[in-house]
Amino acid sequence: MTLKSKVVYLLLAIALVMSVPLAIVRGAGNRSPVRARSVIFLMGDGMGATQRDAIQLVTVGPYGRLTMDQLPYTGMMSTNSVDPKTFVTDSAAGATAWAIGRKTYNGAIAVDAQGKPWPTLLEEAKQAGKSVGLVTTSQVTDASPAAFGAHVEDRDEQSEIARQYLESSKVDVILGGGEDYWYPKGDPGAFPDHPKEDPEEGSKGNRGNLVREAKRLGYTYVTDRQELMAARGPKVLGLFANEEMFQQRPEGEGAVYSPVVSLPEMTQKAIDILSRNPRGFFLFVEQEAIDEMGHNNNSELLMKAGQELDKSVGVALDYAKESGDTLVLVTGDHECCGLTLEGPDDPKYPDEDGREIKGNISGEDGPFKVARSSYRFKTDWTTTGHTPVDVPVSAYGPYADRLVGNYENTHLHEVLQQALGLGPNGMPETGRGWWGHLAAFWRTLTSHLP
Ligand SMILES: [Zn+2]
Repeated sequence: MTLKSKVVYLLLAIALVMSVPLAIVRGAGNRSPVRARSVIFLMGDGMGATQRDAIQLVTVGPYGRLTMDQLPYTGMMSTNSVDPKTFVTDSAAGATAWAIGRKTYNGAIAVDAQGKPWPTLLEEAKQAGKSVGLVTTSQVTDASPAAFGAHVEDRDEQSEIARQYLESSKVDVILGGGEDYWYPKGDPGAFPDHPKEDPEEGSKGNRGNLVREAKRLGYTYVTDRQELMAARGPKVLGLFANEEMFQQRPEGEGAVYSPVVSLPEMTQKAIDILSRNPRGFFLFVEQEAIDEMGHNNNSELLMKAGQELDKSVGVALDYAKESGDTLVLVTGDHECCGLTLEGPDDPKYPDEDGREIKGNISGEDGPFKVARSSYRFKTDWTTTGHTPVDVPVSAYGPYADRLVGNYENTHLHEVLQQALGLGPNGMPETGRGWWGHLAAFWRTLTSHLP
């Protein structure tokens, strides 16, 4: 043992001896809110700061605040991945950073850069006796929800992801699109193959009939709004479209955003079912259309989808205020498509032609009406791909204050583990009773060991 480590040990021993009586004195009055019993994690895929501003302008105008902007704690998050070809993340690596706390390559679903699987927040919550749910307007097996409930090396393995939801991670509530991956080819399920709005859609599952498997495992299976509203749980599988619950296209080319069940309704139903568990729950809610409409430089439907996400934040916040021990957070996995906002064009500086997305010239949309005013604004895109700019994180509830600052996306993983008391970061905290001091002492001690 070197002299330096002897000094460290001595100082730590003194700290321990002194902290125990102090902690006993402070302990009784310093216990709440110790943890989040539940977490509701809402995500706008592709939602950066500008997307939020655009949604704000069309919803509440330049001086109003969206519900997501009213959450009391805000931070900025870096989203970059460690892909061999690029540092600009995709949704798979972005959500994996949250789910397992490790940066990885694009396309990875809850495996690290070497392809090794690690436990996800959702799995740890389940193991701790909580209920868990995944809600999205995308395929339920798409990259973002998948990173919480499955481990595969390639995000395209959507049937395997579905199988793992049912058989490995045992997700209690699964709501979204993507029925095509649950039925084998030739068995259309509830949504016909090759519909006229998108003839490419059709069942393509390669893990058998997973809807039958879900029913065998005790899931209530629903395919429309009415059935969902009537579902009692505790296990519900709702598939509401062949693929995404919307059609992503540029404006005027058949783009549609009108899901058969709205995102706020799905969010409310998931909370109703999951919150019956006295041990709490972990719920991930995604609005995929912000990203997909962004890729198509379709601002109008991006903003419509964003308004639906903001209503879902309202649903989550109402529950959190009532429950008192629920952490709500809202963020995006990356920015999409270099969106910026402008006033109406100055005739002296006309914009580049905004309609030529396919010719790789940046698109411009609008003018759009600014809510609660006579103003108008335009949106301008610089690309049809993801960008590496930081995205805002907003939070409410226990541990929300730890999301202030500027940090990596993996930080969310640590905070959520701490908030829920899960995994290696979930040990009791300093200042939360003598056991917390002992645990903090142990962590400090082990971090100094050679
Ligand atoms: Zn995208």
